[in-house]
Amino acid sequence: MSKPTILTVDDDPMVSAAISRDLRGRYGGDYRIVRATSGAQALAVLTKLALRGHPVALIASDQRMPEMTGIEMLERARTHASGAKYLLLTAYADTDVAIKAINDIGLDYYLLKPWDPPEERLFPIVDDLLGDWQQANPDHTSDVRVVGHRWSDRSHDIKTFLARNYVPYSWYDVERDAEGQRLLDLAGATAADLPLVLVPEGETLRSPSTLELASALGLRTRAERPLYDVRIVGGGPAGLAAAVYAASEGLSTVVVEREAPGGQAGQSAAIENYLGFPKGLTGSDLSQRAVAQVSRFGAEMVLARAVVGFETRGPVHAVLVDGAGDIEARAVVVATGVSYRRLDAEGLDELTGRGVYYGATASEASQCQDDDVYVVGAANSAGQAVLSLARFAKRVVLVVRTGTLEATMSRYLVERVTSAPNIEVRYRSEVVACRGDGHLEALTLADRDSGVKEEVSSSWLFVFIGASPRTEWLGAAVVRDHLGYVVTGQDLLGTDRGQHWPLARAPFALETSVPGVFAAGDVRLDSMKRVASAVGEGAMSVYLVHRYLATV
Ligand SMILES: Cc1cc2nc3c(=O)[nH]c(=O)nc-3n(C[C@H](O)[C@H](O)[C@H](O)COP(=O)(O)OP(=O)(O)OC[C@H]3O[C@@H](n4cnc5c(N)ncnc54)[C@H](O)[C@@H]3O)c2cc1C
Repeated sequence: MSKPTILTVDDDPMVSAAISRDLRGRYGGDYRIVRATSGAQALAVLTKLALRGHPVALIASDQRMPEMTGIEMLERARTHASGAKYLLLTAYADTDVAIKAINDIGLDYYLLKPWDPPEERLFPIVDDLLGDWQQANPDHTSDVRVVGHRWSDRSHDIKTFLARNYVPYSWYDVERDAEGQRLLDLAGATAADLPLVLVPEGETLRSPSTLELASALGLRTRAERPLYDVRIVGGGPAGLAAAVYAASEGLSTVVVEREAPGGQAGQSAAIENYLGFPKGLTGSDLSQRAVAQVSRFGAEMVLARAVVGFETRGPVHAVLVDGAGDIEARAVVVATGVSYRRLDAEGLDELTGRGVYYGATASEASQCQDDDVYVVGAANSAGQAVLSLARFAKRVVLVVRTGTLEATMSRYLVERVTSAPNIEVRYRSEVVACRGDGHLEALTLADRDSGVKEEVSSSWLFVFIGASPRTEWLGAAVVRDHLGYVVTGQDLLGTDRGQHWPLARAPFALETSVPGVFAAGDVRLDSMKRVASAVGEGAMSVYLVHRYLATV
């Protein structure tokens, strides 16, 4: 496989040589650095690369060039290098034009010249852009191969696990790709062994559990020590933020995550309201950055293990990890968020993972190419999913129980959903049944006013109908409300809950009814259910852990 290309474009030969030299020094091992000195020359180079099937990862262009500006060239470059990242090199006077280009042509970043020292002003930005490109183009780095069946729930689980753990992989549908059948034969496997996972080193895995897969990939599935300062349960935004703050402040820290880091946010196609990212970012991008930060500060992350029990033993708290014994910690942060609520429709359970999905990941969206897709839900998560699916699907139908979206979805999403040509909103409707032989083939929609039912053909149904906390594992000592949300701080006092608080001092803001056990993010009663608030509470919980530890 040829190395991906980084193309630099600048009409000043000195500047052109300087940026190419800097980029070659840092990225030359993995990328081909190609220079052009005009927009026209850049487009000619891109045409040649496209014809040869050579991928372009990044175009870094000067803005002020005679004949064709950088932005004009980048706009035209989309047809040759559609997925490439765009970096514009500008003078201060051009920043307004650059900001406009973010919306108009999808510019990824602009950088003021000069960029010295490159270690501080150029490489961190290029690292980020290339990281994003690699993630969106896993085939160029993939060593893991998955052979399976398009409509198998196990194949779906394996692909989701790999994608959410940022493991690049190649997918071979055994029915559609000759290579899939060839690998199946080579492994001496049969259809009953699917999905097969071929890892670069080690045995071929036959229909592995996520735990077996995680172990084969060298992901950590057990904690290293018996006792930590802080144990965090759940690796969503709240848990990851708590881990970053705890580990960076010198506390020995472990996070236990039952699936993959990122939580619900990891499934968001576009988070547009998180501070500091004016263009928005995908949930997976945010999680990947957070995971890198967690590991940089030295917190341990145990994956593919659920926490199933909890008890306090004198000054320490023990959590029981499924299949891996218990681990003790001086303080605990519960950041287990919420899980999708199930849709109640006839025949739906048997087809879950076989055309019916809770939440949608980028890999599923691209598989809906040219199909009719149905989405159930009326909140922001459904709106984001609809927009993401509409990029690939022929038509997306949003099925909404109420007569309006405005009450439940942010206005910017409502505007985009209702104005997109290939999105239809069916108000006051619900999905009452699904059918299919091995995978979803049709669904029945009912009009809630007239009761009239209609069967429609579709292979795809995505469900976003809210979520609830799953906190049973906390046992009786940690007080929750009737829905399972964990009660914290002042909410523990007053009413009859006050009797559960055992100390003379008042509980700290995020502290639960068990001193030293904190709750952060969506799992907490009255939390805001947003990424920013989950991150804020995760960080704040560590400050409160310090205060708690000072009292014992
Ligand atoms: C599709 C979608 C789009 C969204 N878009 C936006 C948006 O644009 N902007 C915004 O602000 N918010 C958005 N949200 C909401 C936002 O993602 C959540 O508020 C946020 O993720 C909450 O973070 P959290 O860490 O509290 O919980 P979660 O994200 O729910 O993470 C909890 C984690 O704990 C793990 N876990 C649960 N139980 C256990 C256990 N027993 N043992 C081990 N691990 C366990 C789970 O696997 C999960 O990874 C969106 C949500 C969804 C579903």
